[in-house]
Amino acid sequence: MKIPQSMRTFCPRCKTHTDHAVSLYKAGKRRGAKKGERHQAERKKGYGGQKFPLQHNQAKVSKKQSLMLKCGECDYTLQRKGIRLKKAEVV
Ligand SMILES: [Zn+2]
Repeated sequence: MKIPQSMRTFCPRCKTHTDHAVSLYKAGKRRGAKKGERHQAERKKGYGGQKFPLQHNQAKVSKKQSLMLKCGECDYTLQRKGIRLKKAEVV
């Protein structure tokens, strides 16, 4: 699905419709030194270390894509609810 680079929508901070720059949500980089990563590494140590079941047979063939909308006037960023798409690109 092709998504336009900008759209005019409601900004909750300006309390009116303004032009927003559109981008796709991307998860942040995993950092090995962070608390959660350290704790998970500690839990996984030794015999029988995996503490929750890992899903191997995925039923879904698409990923949920969320849009990040940045207000052109106040730089407030809001996130749109994700929809299932095989491919999304901002054009
Ligand atoms: Zn705004």
